[in-house]
Amino acid sequence: MALQQRGLRANQARQVVNHVGKAIWHLGLDWAAATDGLGRQARAALLATAGDLPPMVVDRQLVDTDGTRKLLVRLADDQFIEAVIIPASDDSRTTLCVSSQVGCGRRCVFCETGRLGLSRNLSAAEITTQLLLAQRLWAQVAAGSPPISNVVFMGMGEPLDNLEAVANAVAVMTDDLAAGLAWRKVTVSTVGVAWKLPQFFASVRANLAVSLNAPDDRRRAQWMPINDRCDLAALKSAIVQHLPSGREVLIEYILFGGHNDALADADLLMQWLTGVPARVNLIIANPGPDPALGAPSRSSIWAFHKHLLDGGIRAMVRHPHGQQVGGACGQLAARPAPPPFGLPTTNGNPTIANP
Ligand code: SF4
Repeated sequence: MALQQRGLRANQARQVVNHVGKAIWHLGLDWAAATDGLGRQARAALLATAGDLPPMVVDRQLVDTDGTRKLLVRLADDQFIEAVIIPASDDSRTTLCVSSQVGCGRRCVFCETGRLGLSRNLSAAEITTQLLLAQRLWAQVAAGSPPISNVVFMGMGEPLDNLEAVANAVAVMTDDLAAGLAWRKVTVSTVGVAWKLPQFFASVRANLAVSLNAPDDRRRAQWMPINDRCDLAALKSAIVQHLPSGREVLIEYILFGGHNDALADADLLMQWLTGVPARVNLIIANPGPDPALGAPSRSSIWAFHKHLLDGGIRAMVRHPHGQQVGGACGQLAARPAPPPFGLPTTNGNPTIANP
């Protein structure tokens, strides 16, 4: 474990995790109280692993009519990120979408975060604190709803560009002494930073999602600059080579009306999927920075989906959540802007600041 790599003996590391994890995640103490009493060496190892837990405040919440709650989180250096609480439509579970970076350097053209450019990586502590803030907030505002059981790294940033912090954050989220989520309920999504996959599978116990979005290199390179560094063939070969046996990858494919939603595109997608242990999520494009990349018609979505199913592909259509509050896929921009007219908002929440 990371604390041992930083000089603590195994039993010492376990005691530190036990002590701090219990204090923060189960007793609801703040960071200062939780780390009070730790020895100098233990404190130094903890800080080197998790980073200092800086004050993070939910500056504003926007609540969509579908129940999705977008949190604008202010970091200690006055930069902003967003996290989104997504209750399932059938009330069966609650998912939190977290950010891994402030902004993003990958510049996918359909994504608001990509327009910001990369400001900095988040520390493991800043990533896990999004879960802590969301859990405490959700317990206050949604008593009786399912607690947050699933986490997706699909917010701002490319998680594999900040892999060490993401690995440490996932470890905390899935440790019984901390958040205690089941690892199968944590999903890390990448645009296809294929050369990091060996390190990902070696250091992160979570599901992998790959954002594909185009069935050929020409269109993928147009929408996702990563494709110039790693084309579809190289991406497929890296997945097939490094995916642990018995595991599968989730392929995300955003449907852009008139651009990648023809049945011939579904055929190309199926060709690419041959030999890849995968299931597919079809995501309907949300309004984003490029108005030309809009949602397809219902009939094209239905036909594309059916074509995949008929071809033996396990595929689901994911309907947008949080679109009205800019909380859906590709919409996160972390702008402290006023909410859309008519939607409820809450400014700040002092009771969950500085967890
Ligand atoms: S889709 Fe993901 S990787 Fe691409 S710009 Fe947006 S946040 Fe970055």
